[in-house]
Amino acid sequence: MTMQFVFLGPPGVGKGTYASRAGPQLGIPHISTGDIFRAEVKSGSELGNRVKGIMDSGGLVSDKIVIEVLKKRLGQEDARKGFILDGFPRTIPQAEALDGVTSINAVMNIDLPEDIIVEKISARRICRNCGDLYNVADINRNGIRMPPMLPKVEGKCDKCGGELYQRDDDKVDVVKERLEAYRKQTSPLIDYYRDKRILIDFRPTAGPDEMVPKIVELLKQHGL
Ligand code: ADP
Ligand code: ZN
Repeated sequence: MTMQFVFLGPPGVGKGTYASRAGPQLGIPHISTGDIFRAEVKSGSELGNRVKGIMDSGGLVSDKIVIEVLKKRLGQEDARKGFILDGFPRTIPQAEALDGVTSINAVMNIDLPEDIIVEKISARRICRNCGDLYNVADINRNGIRMPPMLPKVEGKCDKCGGELYQRDDDKVDVVKERLEAYRKQTSPLIDYYRDKRILIDFRPTAGPDEMVPKIVELLKQHGL
């Protein structure tokens, strides 16, 4: 069975949380270009230094760099059984480059109303060490009930004990830039994949404990 999936959706919609839980349940890696770039920035590599400024401002890293990084990642052994891509592709040229190297089975298009997205992003916390995600927002309106995802010990990662912090680009003014970049550069991918008949529209109504099993079921139906 090949399971090659893309998770599409605006920043803060929960893609990373869903992908990081669904991947292990399906036995496939969760590949996040944002995580890869954050690790490069943290390590102070040449690539990290090249992308840091653009990431801090909420803009997109150039297609050339991202495509190169992604191709290298897909070439690794663990990606042979399949993968969930989170945060890639983000532009039509990236989607075309992906089509050039492999064929995607399904694209999960995850979306939420913008006011909820902004509230969730500003309440997001991430582990400095392993990238695990937490959220202090408590949302209950418009038929959407998302309880907070708190660490067991305040400010510390459940998985590795690392320090939790707020990404600089999760602060409100940068969030607006990222949503704008999503609308302009990434949302055309919705029609791109709808036209290929591999798009699955998904509107979360609850937290990951309830949503992840539904997502895993949908993906199982769409693997080939
Ligand atoms: P989000 O929480 O917005 O989904 P990510 O963690 O996926 O954020 O990405 C963080 C930043 O990394 C982006 O704002 C962008 O600067 C850069 N980035 C990640 N993936 C891509 C990509 N596919 N194309 C261009 N830039 C990317
Ligand atoms: Zn951690």
